[in-house]
Order: sequence, then structure tokens, then C-alpha cells
Amino acid sequence: MFTISVARLKNAPAQQRRYLLSGGVEPFPGPGGEPVRILSPVELDLSVTNAGDFLWAVGEVSATIGLSCSRCIGEYAEKIAGRFEEKYRLHGGADEEGKEIPYAADEIDFTGHVTESLVLSLPMKPLCRESCLGLCQYCGKDLNSGGCSCQVDKGDPRLSVLKDLFGGIEGGGGGGGTEK
Ligand SMILES: [Zn+2]
Ligand SMILES: [Zn+2]
Repeated sequence: MFTISVARLKNAPAQQRRYLLSGGVEPFPGPGGEPVRILSPVELDLSVTNAGDFLWAVGEVSATIGLSCSRCIGEYAEKIAGRFEEKYRLHGGADEEGKEIPYAADEIDFTGHVTESLVLSLPMKPLCRESCLGLCQYCGKDLNSGGCSCQVDKGDPRLSVLKDLFGGIEGGGGGGGTEK
């Protein structure tokens, strides 16, 4: 679906063509390891220039995907966008800086580049929103939908470490409900 014919462009020095393509890609793993759900067609805005010795392709890729928030684990949709550049040589033997440049066939399939740019543009730490409050660490309630009844004292952090160690031995006090 992301394959274009460059047969004519290969014989048209200094010409540029623009291609607007959309389609699907194979599922790929998201930040948490599970396959990313792709919620929209993947869009590719591709420009290919005949630069004499090579074709120079620049692609802008975007898609809306479903991610799970790293704080509240809720599913949400996020639009991600990436970019790639690639050269395809038109004549033999043109290596550049030790890197081999693929030869320009009459048809070029950009699916691999499209997928790779989406993978690279995944957020490292997905957040449904910047201000997401996450889950209560004691009862697991989603704090975005209101507070919970755990009255966590935000006093001395060293005390809460002790409380974790002694798991609710204090009893009765504000630290109740630490059982998981
Ligand atoms: Zn969230
Ligand atoms: Zn709670």
C-alpha cells in the first residue's frame, strides 16, 4: 500500500513528485510490549526528488493509535507522527560515508520505513493527559474520577517507607488499608 512507481521519475533529473498515501501496517509492539492498536489509516506524505545520482525520498508519517496510560492504565487515543529520509541510487557503486545506498527499482515499497517511523515516534511514557492523577497506590482507584477514602498522609517519606516495611502494623491510624 505504500509502494510507488518511480519509473518515470528516474528519468527526470531535478524533478520532484509528491505522493499522498494511506493504508495499514502490520501491528508492532507498543511501549508496554503489547501490540499497538492502530485506530486510523496510516497516512504518508511522501516527496521524492530526482537529485541526479540518486532519488531522495522524504516521508512524513502519522496515525492515531490506542495506548494505555502509564499512570492510570486507561486506554486513550493519541496521534503520533514521524519522519524518514532515504536515498536510492540511480547508478552503480555509489556508497556514501561507508553506508550502502539501495538501488532504485522502478517500484519502491516504503512500508518498512513507515512502520519504523511510527515505532520511533511512540511516546516512552504514554499519558492520557499531562495532568493524569493515576491510580491510588493503596486501593487502586482511578483518582481522575474522584478521590478515594485512603487518607494517605504525605508527611515524612521515610515514615511511609517504614509503614510499607511493617505493612499496617500500626493499625487504626491514618495508614490503614495498606493490604494489597
Ligand atoms: Zn491516565
Ligand atoms: Zn485509595
